[in-house]
Amino acid sequence: GKVLVTGANGYIATWLVKDLLEQGFSVRGTVRSLAKGDHLKKIFASYGDKLELVVVEDITKDGAFDEAVKDVDAIQHTASPFHFAIKDPQELILPAVAGTESILRSALKYGTNIKRVVILSSTAAIQDARPDPAVYTEKDWNESAITEVETKGAEAGPINAYMASKTLAEKAAWKWYEQNKAQVKWDMTVLNPPFVFGPILHEIKDVAHLNTSMVLFYTFVLKGDADAETLATQGQCWADVRDVTKGLVLGLLKEQAGGERIILGSGPYMWQDWVNAARKSSSSISAGNTAYKAADTIYPIDINPAKSVELLGMKYRTMDETARDILEDFAKKGW
Ligand code: NDP
Repeated sequence: GKVLVTGANGYIATWLVKDLLEQGFSVRGTVRSLAKGDHLKKIFASYGDKLELVVVEDITKDGAFDEAVKDVDAIQHTASPFHFAIKDPQELILPAVAGTESILRSALKYGTNIKRVVILSSTAAIQDARPDPAVYTEKDWNESAITEVETKGAEAGPINAYMASKTLAEKAAWKWYEQNKAQVKWDMTVLNPPFVFGPILHEIKDVAHLNTSMVLFYTFVLKGDADAETLATQGQCWADVRDVTKGLVLGLLKEQAGGERIILGSGPYMWQDWVNAARKSSSSISAGNTAYKAADTIYPIDINPAKSVELLGMKYRTMDETARDILEDFAKKGW
């Protein structure tokens, strides 16, 4: 079968393309310019024409994906802005929402072979701003980020804007599916990973161009550029990029994943947990906050990945494994 991957040159998507090719799929990847596909062509050269790249310059345009969806058997929609360099929340929200609606409409019109559409959402669409520690499940929605953006506009800040973009895009997907399910022959699966870390396969000119999640790992863990307070109190939940792409492929293949929203993730972290894990495989990592005790730490945000284990059979990497592989990859890059 042939799978369409949008935003194929991204951090997560490059691993996804690798997984799909390794499992025998043909892949059609969309990129915003042909130059952005050169690196993919190079690293997957051995797959020859099993990897095809097409240019979709503006995903928000109606009909943008009309050609790209023709004769594919499934879609993995990953293209969406994840950065904080914005002045206005709409810079993230518009491409996230309009891009999602656009691909669904094209899939309805021209995706005659499509059996499943997988949407890469995020736990940003799940975890809200609760005052007390909480364990989040697929039943939760991040309404507070939407409210922040609606009431404060640009003052809501880029993190709220990003979280709102993911929440609104996922809501738009489910709403569109609900309204059109009588006409489409495919079903839809949404996967929601938290912060994604792991080795880097995609093209990056230099560390200044690291993607939003990995730049944090580089800065806080490899460079040790964070104060003791930050290391002990700042964190989120995480997943290894290779577990996320495994989940995306299983989300495509498993019958029972159809119509489901599924969290993918290993668990919570504070940055000092990553420092401690990294120090097990590299003595050059600085010790960070030596007073920190993981056992006494209360993680404000936790996730329950039970559904992914049950429906997809997911198993997740440990922090030690992921930290080791990241450091190995950084060393290879000469960082
Ligand atoms: P990257 O920034 O590496 O990749 C983003 C991809 O989306 C790139 O291909 C990029 O294209 C494309 N893209 C961004 N903005 C637009 C736009 N306006 N129009 C068209 N394409 C666009 O990020 P990730 O790999 O980390 O993110 C991929 C997906 O995973 C996103 O949907 C993100 O929300 C989600 N996600 C990421 C997490 C993480 O921690 N990394 C956690 C949870 C979810 P280009 O290179 O041309 O800019």
